[in-house]
Amino acid sequence: MLIHSWMSPKCRLAPSSKSGMGIFASFLIEPREIVAVWGGKVYTQAEVHQLSLQIPEYNSHTVSVAPGFYIGLMSPGTELDDTDLFNHSCQPNLGVVGQITLIARQQIEAGEELTFDYDTTETAAVPFHCRCGAPECRGVIDGSSWTKPDFQKAHAGYLSWNVLEAIRRSGDEPRQP
Ligand SMILES: [Zn+2]
Repeated sequence: MLIHSWMSPKCRLAPSSKSGMGIFASFLIEPREIVAVWGGKVYTQAEVHQLSLQIPEYNSHTVSVAPGFYIGLMSPGTELDDTDLFNHSCQPNLGVVGQITLIARQQIEAGEELTFDYDTTETAAVPFHCRCGAPECRGVIDGSSWTKPDFQKAHAGYLSWNVLEAIRRSGDEPRQP
């Protein structure tokens, strides 16, 4: 169900071999076509922490939009928006531009599952074991990838402003000997 976000009518929700439900292309999607725009309510880090104590896995359905700020469900604990159900892949066919827009990184055929790399929006995460099946699968996704030059290079152009800002800030810090 779409509650507060926009998703292309070329997409549909269906069971995924990766994890639970996922979002799939029903029609061919062109490179750089907009697939989804996340909406919702803005939460602070403290609010997300508090909500995740009350609602298990709450923080797995928020997206970081700036250091210390998240976008999430309008009413925590209610039904998820379909756009909260894109699965992670270490070799994704979608990428994030800005903070809330998902676009196609390549031409996507009807029937393909639509995925993005969760570490392209997050700089901290509750670790999970990835089952994306990609040859370059990182195994455990824990929100630390943004610090790695290889990751930054592989996802150049598809890193959220939140991640870009974290990289910029880390570069400003004094180097440890
Ligand atoms: Zn993976």
